[in-house]
Amino acid sequence: MKDQLSDFIEIINNAKDVINGGWKTEHESVTIGCRPGASSGTDSLELIAAEILSCVKCNLSKTRHHPLPGTGVINPVVMFIGEGPEPDEDKTGESFVGRAGEYLDKWLDAIGLERNKNCFVGNIIKCRPPENRDPHPDEITACQPFLLRQLVLIKPTIIVTLGRFASQVICGSDEGIEKLRRRVHQYEGIPVVPTYHPSSVLRNKELRGAVWSDLKRVKELADEIGRRN
Ligand code: SF4
Repeated sequence: MKDQLSDFIEIINNAKDVINGGWKTEHESVTIGCRPGASSGTDSLELIAAEILSCVKCNLSKTRHHPLPGTGVINPVVMFIGEGPEPDEDKTGESFVGRAGEYLDKWLDAIGLERNKNCFVGNIIKCRPPENRDPHPDEITACQPFLLRQLVLIKPTIIVTLGRFASQVICGSDEGIEKLRRRVHQYEGIPVVPTYHPSSVLRNKELRGAVWSDLKRVKELADEIGRRN
């Protein structure tokens, strides 16, 4: 899993260069769906969602029930990013439904946020791996352009990563979630607050105190930046 993660972190870092500085020769072998012009009118969240809903670029298309493009508003106060669809999401095609989704809504409410008013919720991988296994490197490589294109368009004020995998990928680190969540990271100048996934907290109530501390950090950051809605 560490090698898979390293691969993905390298891909993300290469893609950041593409987004920031144009297509660089040393990165020509990386398959990136997002070019700098994509954020200036030729790309849209609707187009990305349509591509995801019909995507067969990796083997997860054979076992998924529904791909999950994610949902929410552009320029949200917070973009929440999880690893991949939970069983209820795969079953219904709706983001963060079921117990984990209801629990996430309670988190939002606790810091004055609303899912479809000032948030976006999505995942690193858009289709659920069978039996909840980790995504394979080729699946990660195939899927990552969607998230990168979304990030360019969504422009969140704060990113909150949910769980180990999403936190490691967005923070570009192989540290565990326990360490990552102790500080605020940066993704392209956007503050990133890693925390536990709602499903993990539902399984282990001892994590609730840590999550509350992370949510308070998000609220403080939003207040500092002057973004409440
Ligand atoms: S996981 Fe991503 S790349 Fe693979 S089929 Fe689903 S949307 Fe396409």
